[in-house]
Amino acid sequence: MPAQPAKQQPVSVVTGGAGFLGSHLTDRLLAEGHRVIAIDNLVTGHLTNIEHLAGNPGYRFIKQDVTQYLFLPDEIDYVFHFASPASPIDYLELPIPTLKVGALGTHNTLGLAKAKQATFVLASTSECYGDPLVHPQREDYWGNVNPIGPRGVYDEAKRFAEAITMAYHRYHGIDTKIVRIFNTYGPRMRLRDGRVVPAFIGQALSEMPLTIFGDGTQTRSFCYVSDLIDGIYRLSQSDFHEPVNIGNPREMTIQQFAENIIRITGTTSGIEYKPLPVDDPKVRQPDIARAKSILGWEPKVEFEEGITRTIEYFRQWLARAEQR
Ligand code: UDP
Repeated sequence: MPAQPAKQQPVSVVTGGAGFLGSHLTDRLLAEGHRVIAIDNLVTGHLTNIEHLAGNPGYRFIKQDVTQYLFLPDEIDYVFHFASPASPIDYLELPIPTLKVGALGTHNTLGLAKAKQATFVLASTSECYGDPLVHPQREDYWGNVNPIGPRGVYDEAKRFAEAITMAYHRYHGIDTKIVRIFNTYGPRMRLRDGRVVPAFIGQALSEMPLTIFGDGTQTRSFCYVSDLIDGIYRLSQSDFHEPVNIGNPREMTIQQFAENIIRITGTTSGIEYKPLPVDDPKVRQPDIARAKSILGWEPKVEFEEGITRTIEYFRQWLARAEQR
């Protein structure tokens, strides 16, 4: 029998590779035997998220803004486009880079996937549903987005990114996938990125009041990062091209979330109420029927377990910061 050619090691490009999700995705891809080329301009990503990869022969880091032309001589099998400011504070501070990375950055990375005949995976978002009038959110809901509000820079960039991804799929025949990511938490979030999980944990660990925006009746559903990455990896291996929600359907009010953080950390912190930001969605919960049936995926990590691990991460991070 003729010898089978050795199966080549898949090569993945991860944009936003030094970010919270990009770095966890990189770890998973390396564990699956991929070579990873991570690209990040470090505007919101951080080298501490990838310092454990220094010297790994399967890993390369390129500091670049993906809105600029991407030149990579390598053969590439997968392009994961995960670069973008992703917390409301970040995209309010960086409105134009947010629009550019969602629009021009998606165009460039799709162009890269086309040139390399690679599979393309877009990190999209539950923000595509805006302040939803349908609850929970299914993928066939078109959303309720204010295009000119402060969150519009993120929401509309991601909606454009989905549109151009489907156009490259339909017109150029590129193998594309779209994951709509719901609120996700875990180690490597930035303590001060403004999102509710690091904000409340940071406040609780510093014995400061937890700042609830509005009356705390708005809801979110929080997914632990390892579950999210597992869903995304499965999607990358599927032959499904329409958007797939990945998130944890366990929904709670922000008031309940604050009370949970106070209880689990054992802090003496109280609660302080602040004005609700403009266009803050009142409810959010993924319908994950599609992910269940197509990917055989559902989240496994219970809230108590995931949040305890995340609190421990921030506790250690704060202790290290004190030593510096
Ligand atoms: N939030 C809050 N206090 C904070 C930060 C956020 O009450 O210090 C609220 C925010 O108004 C929203 C929810 O928590 O209703 C989740 O906010 P996050 O910034 O994590 O992301 P979003 O889900 O709005 O994109």
